[in-house]
Amino acid sequence: MTKGYFFRGNPVSFEEAFPEIEEIKIEGTEGDIAQRNKLSLNKKTWGISCSNPLCKDKGYGVKLGDFISEMYHKKETSKEKIISCGGYESMGRGQTRRCLNHLSIRVEIKYKLPEVQQEVEN
Ligand SMILES: [Zn+2]
Repeated sequence: MTKGYFFRGNPVSFEEAFPEIEEIKIEGTEGDIAQRNKLSLNKKTWGISCSNPLCKDKGYGVKLGDFISEMYHKKETSKEKIISCGGYESMGRGQTRRCLNHLSIRVEIKYKLPEVQQEVEN
């Protein structure tokens, strides 16, 4: 399980990356034709790795983070996307092939209400 969101190469927590998100719901289906896994993620469990045991790379974490980031900056509340796995399967003898897994997701975001101007305490 990938932990956190790699923001410009540095791992940060969800709260650090998206401080204005109150709640997030990610529902999706992962898999190729042979295998499908239903997923349901939230703020704490949102990092996701590819379930292909042969898959060598990171899976969906970075792309999912970028997708949420894009929604976040546009203040979008619901969006769907198909994300393909960025990983590779090792075929032996240094040969690799692309992992064919993909993730169809629907993301719903609830933003924090704009904060009421706080009084400065003296
Ligand atoms: Zn994969």
